[in-house]
Amino acid sequence: MIVDRQGRRFRNLRISLTSACNYACTYCVPNGKRLVAAQDELCADAMVRGVAYMIEAAGIERLRITGGEPLVSPKLDTFMREVGQLGLSDISLTTNGQLLARKLPLLLDAGIRRLNVSLDTLDPTAFRSIARGGDLPTVLDGMRQASAAGIKIKVNMVPLRGQNFDQVMPLLDYCLEQGYELRFIELMRMGHLASDGNSFLQQFVSLQQLLSLIGERYEYLQADAPIDATAVRYHIPNHGYFGVIANESVPFCRTCSRLRLSSTGWLHGCLSSSNRHYIGDLLNKPRHEALPALQGLLMKALGDKQDIAFSGGATVMKIIGG
Ligand code: SAM
Repeated sequence: MIVDRQGRRFRNLRISLTSACNYACTYCVPNGKRLVAAQDELCADAMVRGVAYMIEAAGIERLRITGGEPLVSPKLDTFMREVGQLGLSDISLTTNGQLLARKLPLLLDAGIRRLNVSLDTLDPTAFRSIARGGDLPTVLDGMRQASAAGIKIKVNMVPLRGQNFDQVMPLLDYCLEQGYELRFIELMRMGHLASDGNSFLQQFVSLQQLLSLIGERYEYLQADAPIDATAVRYHIPNHGYFGVIANESVPFCRTCSRLRLSSTGWLHGCLSSSNRHYIGDLLNKPRHEALPALQGLLMKALGDKQDIAFSGGATVMKIIGG
């Protein structure tokens, strides 16, 4: 097993199925361009082989399928069917929910029982201005259908001062009512925000600011979470749970177990490092040739992790797989 001197190892793999997205969220992409898939994306079979090799070489246990927007990818069907055979303990998916109702039968057939749906506001005008695409009622309907079919839903919200901070309580109330767990994600210094510190600081909302606002309406208690969890989780008795992924306020690099594979075959061991390691060529090789080389690259990727805190990264989330 590949372990670093802080005892960290890779357990969770995130695969960006495609960099194409039907949204262009303001905090994720600077130029508003949508639906651009990289020219040289891996095919579904190569990606499945990549997961199989990384289960063996790194001890990967859990997989999250992300992007870009995974539900726009023509690879989704084949990838989901094949990756489900690899014996992972958990497969989940992060989506903006726009195509959720349409793809629900496929997701259910593939055994998906947990979904993260990104939703930054319940206000249709703010929704259009943040996502720069999509349709709010379609997302809400997709979540309702998925939940009715037995899928557990977590909602990801990035609170942004001046854009959707007024939506923190409406979205929390809505999620508690619907039985979804809301996850606030502190804005991360990724992509254009890594180089534009002013824009980052103007929009950033901290864990403490969220907790004071929520505390005006609800009593909450900190809840247990797994050791390598990225979210601080809270229980509101008789209502439900919410969490905060507080990468700035409560850095979680010390226990990070994540590895990312981009749609074009690059391994990223850390969101906060510009290092990446190409494995696309290895995925066309037989196992006995690929594994030794892959192990070397996995050690390098593990070495890219920050010791304590995330400091920012130039790559945009839709490329690296948020
Ligand atoms: N298209 C899918 C979706 O919308 O959930 C998956 C990809 S998206 C890049 C994954 C997550 O990354 C979303 O929840 C999004 O809000 C988050 N994200 C992107 N850029 C971010 C940033 N700069 N800071 C915090 N979260 C970010």
